Amino acid sequence: MKAIVNGALVTPDAVLFGKTLLFDERIEAIADARDPLPAGVETVDARGGCVLPGFVDLHVHGGGGYDFLDPDPGAIDAILRLHAAHGTTALFATTLTCPDEILYDGVERLAAAIGRGRPENGSDLLGIHLEGPWLSPSNVGAQAVKGERTPTKRVLDRLFALSGGRISRIDAAPELSAGIDLLAAFAKERGILLSIAHSAANAETALAAYEKGFTHITHLYCSTTTEHKEGQTVHAGIVEAAYLEDGITVELIGDGKHIPRETMLLCFKIKGADKVALVTDAMRAAGTDATTSILGEKKTGTPVVVEDGVAKLPDRSSFAGSVATMDVCFKTALRYGVPLCDAARSCTLTPARIAGVSARKGSLEVGRDADILLFDGNFGLQGVFIGGDRIR
Ligand SMILES: [Zn+2]
Repeated sequence: MKAIVNGALVTPDAVLFGKTLLFDERIEAIADARDPLPAGVETVDARGGCVLPGFVDLHVHGGGGYDFLDPDPGAIDAILRLHAAHGTTALFATTLTCPDEILYDGVERLAAAIGRGRPENGSDLLGIHLEGPWLSPSNVGAQAVKGERTPTKRVLDRLFALSGGRISRIDAAPELSAGIDLLAAFAKERGILLSIAHSAANAETALAAYEKGFTHITHLYCSTTTEHKEGQTVHAGIVEAAYLEDGITVELIGDGKHIPRETMLLCFKIKGADKVALVTDAMRAAGTDATTSILGEKKTGTPVVVEDGVAKLPDRSSFAGSVATMDVCFKTALRYGVPLCDAARSCTLTPARIAGVSARKGSLEVGRDADILLFDGNFGLQGVFIGGDRIR
């Protein structure tokens, strides 16, 4: 058993002082610091810094030079190690729109990696997140969508079978054709989270999609809509729908580049930290000093440049994913003025709840996995425990 002493414990409801966090693979107890420790306990001194649950990233494509769709044998583990070293103790692997065969192969490899279990010094890979390919060609961002593609039963069945049931989330543009009803029914039957992404929908369409089961919005403000004119009629957009409907959860790219300060604060003010998850949406250059990179799988992806801490299409017409890690997202929220407990919640418990894993992940509570982060007084990451093992 280990014990973290002399730290401020950031729990879902309060910052606790004068407490000791006792854990093995799971959190065993939160004890009064004046109580004697059980015999044989290894103590870790937090030196007065904050102690947080491990970050949970709902949306990540890669890092450390690799994309989750790369065929290289070591790619998945390398990405999991890179993000773990930056405090992400659990994540969902996101696939980008790409040729069908690359998606099929990628999903199969990811399923195998989930089956193998957490690699040494790596994050827990909890599920597969399909970002597309059923996205709107008119709000595509940097994704390589060529014409609408409609979800069909054949493709959905094949993807789900290859994933061994590990697909936990599907993103789509709900304004696309009849295939969306089929997708909604497919996801509902299997407990898959549906999210509105890269969409040109207006608020009416987004709210109708919510009724069909699209309860989440992928990177709000990025490839989503706000109030706009269609012909001579003014419509509200996806952003207004997200604010109007309390049941909708959202994610924001927290790299400090995609979302300005006022927008992040507005989103927290309206939705509350319970409904806002911060994500990296990290691409392969995250955690490297590359100045050029590839968005998506290495042979079929899109060449991009990396400058000013963000990936961009070479003509600078669009951002092409972030190069952030979750420690950057957490610090960005704090720098923007989000209160500590809210910033922590949006990087931990809120994403865990959205993904349906909060019984194990996302909070410093007895019985949860011992995924624990130690920070210094400037919120620099000093230590990472995953399942009780110190990996940094
Ligand atoms: Zn993405």
